[in-house]
Amino acid sequence: MWLEIAEQITKVTGKSFEVQQHRSVGGGCINQGYSITDGARTYFVKLNQASQLEMFEAEALGLQQMYDTQSIRVPQPLCCGMSDRNSYIVMEWLEFGRADNAAWEEMGRKLAQMHAYPSPNGKFGWERNNTIGSTPQVNAWMDNWSEFFAEQRIGYQIRLAKRRGGSFPDTNATIAAIQEVLADWQPSPSLVHGDLWSGNAACTAAGEPAILDPATYWGDREVDLAMTELFGGFPAAFYRGYNAVFPLNEGYQRRKTLYNLYHILNHFNLFGGGYESQARRMLDDVLR
Ligand code: ADP
Repeated sequence: MWLEIAEQITKVTGKSFEVQQHRSVGGGCINQGYSITDGARTYFVKLNQASQLEMFEAEALGLQQMYDTQSIRVPQPLCCGMSDRNSYIVMEWLEFGRADNAAWEEMGRKLAQMHAYPSPNGKFGWERNNTIGSTPQVNAWMDNWSEFFAEQRIGYQIRLAKRRGGSFPDTNATIAAIQEVLADWQPSPSLVHGDLWSGNAACTAAGEPAILDPATYWGDREVDLAMTELFGGFPAAFYRGYNAVFPLNEGYQRRKTLYNLYHILNHFNLFGGGYESQARRMLDDVLR
């Protein structure tokens, strides 16, 4: 397998690459991570079962689109494929270090720049479906954000949650009520990271902020900000940097709970347990 991956790297970079060493890297939630090196060049590789190739293809496309905005640093994807009954993705290796306040502020500024990047078609969605954690995330293009978020984000997760045995109000009525909550809100589509918790935000050893492991699509930029606040919040410097470049709109505080409801429903679908009652409380809050 490493031989085939090396051949693929040689092909896409046009420079001969032979794996001298591969080393397992911990910390991933879903995949096995490795560093591979020929002594001079090092890459980051993630492996999973063959059936997960589409997930890696979507990750590579998301990373490439974020990379192309030339705003915040992301690992540049090189290739993905299948070998020895494994699927794999290869990307640029980033050496991580500690983030200080200046790096967090810069991360806010750079994320805001990515969010300000113009959309190709003014629609919400993406070229393909991807995953959030390991749950499918549906990205069919839509003109209207309230419809997109109510149906393809909340409605989709509530249907899954009910199949899992969760008890939630009628799905169609909930979708309609959420569309109502967002009725007056017409954001411009931004390229969003889509899964921006602290585990997916880091700083390189050179002090440059970077984001990883995205669930990219064109959506309301507030979804990324909301998620940064979901598990305790990023340092204040991050929000200072963000607002200096692209100030948040009024009403964000009200929408934040709705946007994070998506991730809590997804947590229930992935992990079960207390996330069900948390999601129900959030839904009550949003629809009150
Ligand atoms: P998973 O898809 O399994 O959740 P992640 O993409 O979050 O995996 O990566 C798992 C860990 O591997 C990260 O927390 C980070 O420490 C390390 N990592 C991720 N991307 C890179 C990279 N490009 N270079 C070096 N290390 C990385």
